[in-house]
Parts: sequence; structure tokens; C-alpha cells
Amino acid sequence: MVVSLSQQNQLWNRILSNVKERVEDKHIYDSFFANTKLHKVEGDIMYICVDSKLSIKLIEGNSTYTSYILDSIKEVTETEYKIRLLSKEEIVEKKDSLNKDSQVIETKERFFSTCCLNAKYNFDNFVVGSCNKEAVQASLLVTQSPGTSFNPLFLYSKPGLGKTHLLHAIGNFVKEKKPYAKVIYITTDAFIDEYIKYVHGDQQEESLKDFLKSCDVLLVDDIQSLADKQKTQEMFFYIFNALVNNNKQIVLTSDRHPSELKGLEDRLVSRFNMGLSINLQNPDTETLLSILKTKIEANGLDVNNFDYNGLVFLAENFSKNVRELEGALNRLIFYTITTKHSKKIDIQTIKDSVKPMMHSKDSKKVLSEEKIISTVCEYYHLTENQIKSKSRLSQIALARQIAMYLCRSMLGTPYKQIGVLFGGRDHSTVITSVDKVETMLKTDSSLSTALSKLQKNLKN
Ligand code: ADP
Ligand code: MG
Repeated sequence: MVVSLSQQNQLWNRILSNVKERVEDKHIYDSFFANTKLHKVEGDIMYICVDSKLSIKLIEGNSTYTSYILDSIKEVTETEYKIRLLSKEEIVEKKDSLNKDSQVIETKERFFSTCCLNAKYNFDNFVVGSCNKEAVQASLLVTQSPGTSFNPLFLYSKPGLGKTHLLHAIGNFVKEKKPYAKVIYITTDAFIDEYIKYVHGDQQEESLKDFLKSCDVLLVDDIQSLADKQKTQEMFFYIFNALVNNNKQIVLTSDRHPSELKGLEDRLVSRFNMGLSINLQNPDTETLLSILKTKIEANGLDVNNFDYNGLVFLAENFSKNVRELEGALNRLIFYTITTKHSKKIDIQTIKDSVKPMMHSKDSKKVLSEEKIISTVCEYYHLTENQIKSKSRLSQIALARQIAMYLCRSMLGTPYKQIGVLFGGRDHSTVITSVDKVETMLKTDSSLSTALSKLQKNLKN
């Protein structure tokens, strides 16, 4: 992670405010934490400058104090960093190298201040399946000998399938093997912003070009955003050629194949086509389950506490976009922390936790008996317990029959299963209810209006 000094200070101030909220005693905060500074961030390590060697001993010797810092860092950055404490004396001793370091930061600060490699994304936590195997293999190959195999490597797919993750993984891996390699990660939008700054006279074209031309690996995310930006494309074309001619590696991502990019000059498209283009496809259920497992473990939880069929339910219903699958998992974790206190997470909890997300998704894919029951309950202002109860009150009985009818007609759910869902009724009771609704529909126009509304709600 490359950050400027001012960004670094801002980040540390946010972390400190978080620490302050955790520390109950103001004197403890003032004497141990208030004077700390973020010295630098390297990979997944934050080097923190504290008052003295004695402070290091005291903080490191107290697990509560270290967890104040670690927990705050995690909450603010959403990244698991390790920490190293350095005393002011130690930093002064290394002053020469420190000066050199801050010069490097200074140069990088001038461009793309919003972009940096994210240590969180690496090859170790990228799950490989048949959907992305080729993309991972090609990504690994370019890290072995950047600039010599496929230039550019062009990764494309629908959103949420791991392009940005792989881009960072390439960058982090190259940096791990060659710490002095200049690896630059940028988004295309950031490139456009830098170009606009140049047009407004806030910076020089040459220095921006020089900055990019001097890198060993250039990682550019979402290149489709260059569409219709003719002047910016010209600049990009120049940089692209300079890098490729010097055997420097370029990796691009896009939402579509180079040939399908609209609004891009032909000469750029043909350059993009000259390397290797690889498509990442929708993951299969098995890969999605491995992704879930990886993410559950990354959250410090035990996958064995999650009902397997519940995880299959998540994988099947959030199969088109890993970002959405992650969102569903985060929601589940949040839900279990706030509402469930037992360790084991059953399938019903999993379904309940993501219910609000399901309603907003493609209804055909996610239409379920649960959704039908909750929609009917909402429509008739009943609770799920009421509709599943033995009550014969006409309003409740009618809603129950309608819900059963919808399960049968919209999902084809077996009568027996419907009976189980509605409080353990036998299948002949379900058949009678469904038949009754069908008969009533022929003559009862208010019932058919209600049913059309319900079906419409269920399809939204
Ligand atoms: P894209 O750039 O294709 O839109 P991202 O790389 O941003 O997608 O991925 C979205 C999220 O899904 C990220 O948090 C990423 O870590 C995760 N993700 C995608 N594919 C995988 C995978 N195969 N293994 C682990 N995590 C993945
Ligand atoms: Mg992306």
C-alpha cells in the first residue's frame, strides 16, 4: 500500500479516534496512544511510532492495549494488518533511510493519490475453479516474467467475478518477489482524472507520462471507461506503446472482450488484442461454496458451524456475482451476531438473514416458498406463525389456502412438502386447499384480483 504522508496522518487520526472510543480511561489513552504516529505501511504491516522503548514494552505486554489498536485498524481500514511498534529513537537512528523512503512517497503522492495496491487481495485467498482457472494461470505467468509472455494480459468478465482481485494479486505477488519493482495499480477513472488535471494546467503532461513510463508493471482496471475519451486515449496509447516496447508488463481489465469495446480507437483495440485475452466466467456451485468457506474462515469463524445446505442455498441464489455472495455472507454474519446467540447457524437462519436481499433480486431465480409465505402474510397483515397455525379463522384460513395454492402453482412444490411448511398438515389437506382456491377463482373476482396482485408482488 503506497500512501502519501498526509493520507497516512489522516488515516492514523481516524484509527486513533476509534481507539479513543474503546479506551475507557482517558489517562491511559493520553499516555499510551495519543502521541503515536503511523510511520509507514508496508504490505500488510503498519509500523507505528511510539514515545519510547518502554512504551513498546508496556503496550506489547498488554493484550488489551494491542487489541485496541488492531481492532481499530481493522474497523477503519476493513483490512487485517499486523503491527510493529517502533520507538522514536529507533526511527531517528534510521533517519537516512527514512529520508530516502519519504522521497519515494513524495514522488508517488503527486499522481493517482486515490489508487494503491490493496494487500487484502492475493492469490492465496482467490479460489480457483474451472470458471477462472485460465485467468489465474495467465496472471501467475505474468508475475513470473513480467513483460515477456503476454503483453497486455487482458482479463474480462461481467462484474463481481474477480478481475480487480486478480489485478491486485498480480501486483502484490510481483512486489513480494521483487520489492523494488515499480508496480502501479490505477483505475481508468483515475487515469482520466489525472489527464483532466493536466488539461487544466495543474500538472505537466510529460511528468505524468514519465511517471507511468517508468513503471515495471502497470495494472489498469476497467479500461472500458476510456470509451469516447479521445484525447485521453491518445495519451494512453502513447504510454501503452512505450511500456510494451520496453518489455514492461501491462495488465488490463474490462467488462467485455477488446473487440466489443465501443468508442475506442481501432489502434488501441488492436493493441489490446495483441496479447492474451481471458474471460472469467460465472463460478459453479462448488467454487462458490469454496469461496464461502474461504470468506467464513477469513472472518475468523468455523465453517462447520454453518449448515451445509444453507451454504448451498446461498451459493445457488447468489451465483452470478461473487460480490453479491460476499454481501449475503456479511449480512448473515451481522444477523447472527445481532440476533442469534448459538454457535450453530441453521438453514432457516441463513434464509432469514438474506431475505431482504432476495426480494430485490431476480424473482424467478429466488422465488421460494418462504418468499410466498412472507408476501402473503404481508398482504393479509398476518404473522408467519398465524398462517402456519391450526387457526380456522376465515381470514387466516383463506390466506393459508392462497399461500399453498401459490406454492403449488408458481413453484410446483410437492403437496407433501407444502404440508410440512404449513405446520405439518397432511398432503390431502393441501390438495383440498389448492382445489378450493382453483374453484373459487372461477367465480370470485375479488379473490382473482388479490391473487394477481400477489403474483405481481412475487415477481418484483
Ligand atoms: P470484478 O472486478 O470482476 O467486478 P472483484 O475482483 O471486485 O470483481 O470481486 C468482487 C469480490 O468478490 C471481491 O471481494 C473479491 O475478493 C471476491 N471474489 C471474486 N472472485 C473470487 C474468487 N474466485 N475467490 C475469492 N474471492 C473472489
Ligand atoms: Mg473490478
